[in-house]
Amino acid sequence: MSKEKLTGVKGMNDLLPDQSGLWQWVESRVAEVFHQYGYREIRTPIVEPTALFVRGIGEVTDIVEKEMYTFIDSLNGEQLTLRPENTAAVVRSVIEHNLLYDGPKRLWYTGPMFRHERPQRGRYRQFHQFGIEALGLSGPDIDAEQLLMIARLWQALGLTGENAPRLEINSLGQKEERLAHRAALIAHFEKHASALDEDAKRRLHSNPLRILDSKNPAMRPVVESAPLLKDFLGEASQAHFNAVLAILDAHKINTTINPRLVRGLDYYNLTVFEWITDKLGAQGTVCGGGRYDTLIEQMGGKPAPACGFAIGVERLVELIKELAQPQIETGLHAYIVHWGEGSVGPALAVAEQCRGLGLAVQVHFGEGGLKSQMKKADQSGAKFAVLMGDDERIQGVATIKSLRVESGQQTVAMAEVGSVIAGNSPGALGAAQ
Ligand code: ATP
Ligand code: MG
Repeated sequence: MSKEKLTGVKGMNDLLPDQSGLWQWVESRVAEVFHQYGYREIRTPIVEPTALFVRGIGEVTDIVEKEMYTFIDSLNGEQLTLRPENTAAVVRSVIEHNLLYDGPKRLWYTGPMFRHERPQRGRYRQFHQFGIEALGLSGPDIDAEQLLMIARLWQALGLTGENAPRLEINSLGQKEERLAHRAALIAHFEKHASALDEDAKRRLHSNPLRILDSKNPAMRPVVESAPLLKDFLGEASQAHFNAVLAILDAHKINTTINPRLVRGLDYYNLTVFEWITDKLGAQGTVCGGGRYDTLIEQMGGKPAPACGFAIGVERLVELIKELAQPQIETGLHAYIVHWGEGSVGPALAVAEQCRGLGLAVQVHFGEGGLKSQMKKADQSGAKFAVLMGDDERIQGVATIKSLRVESGQQTVAMAEVGSVIAGNSPGALGAAQ
């Protein structure tokens, strides 16, 4: 057998225990805020038929052209893809289970997504998203409310003032408006064909709008002088956009209209937006979303409007680590330190007694004298150490020592340890908690 060291897949990261507390903290804040707005969780599989994403996301997109993990199921020959995003899958599920039969649905999800990109800071091959989809509502009120929800989320995560990502917004109008704009765009880019890079040339006739999304600095002049979609918007699209902006204004959400903002997926119309930070280097888009009124029909469902967004969890956590630095506790109430012949039995009994009261308790196992056990107790993040040595055991007591404030110490009957730590007993330690 080879002794070669095994490593994980490039661009796919382990979440180690010293980080998982922060992730859990973020996940619970996010779930709380989504709940506050009436959204309910949906969980769909990580693997879907490839056709779902090709149809849902659009053939001429970065994701479908070059980022999907697609494979043949060797057992039955089905072509499958690891989900690169989750809107298409949520829409599939909503149609399959006829979830819109009794009216609109507000849904949220979280989980890993997979894209075969070049790994770098803020860009991974397995990454995670929080996402929202409101289905069956035509807005603009729901579009705006989603943006208020995101603004509230930054607050709840401690990203306030300068530290909050900023909102950029645009309207992509409706299909006919985009077609008129598209014709003007093609004419413009054809006129400047020599200034286009390879990607742009390839997309000139298949998806010229995406050329505006180019990250190539050499393309900037030709992109900046291109005709703007906003000059092609009709009255209804303009009114929808203005209504969204008015609600944002009423709630004092700082908003920048970016007429060049297009999203990387084909399914968007009307409102599109991104929340961007300058504090993470090149990968500064923390959240992106918008309206996708034709996707449900395109996927075979009864026509229904929809609006949603996705937040990149890795980028969000990175931002919180840099700027908000929340104090994350392990949540451990006690660490049981014990020594002497036969000390494990009573230690376990006290631990179980505590757990029966809902406390989180770790028992020391293995070697270690009092001093090294106390060090472990401290590192565990527990609030209290429970000391059970030979003397204590003979007397049927244990010493509870506060690890987080000075001078809190109390010796109590073994049978009382749990209730004293839980604060049910008016012992001297009550003040130490
Ligand atoms: P980008 O322009 O950065 O490639 P995108 O438009 O492809 O982003 P979306 O499909 O809109 O991204 O996904 C929403 C969010 O998910 C992004 O704003 C980002 O925060 C996060 N995200 C997307 N791709 C990755 C990735 N490969 N690694 C980490 N996070 C990602
Ligand atoms: Mg991308």
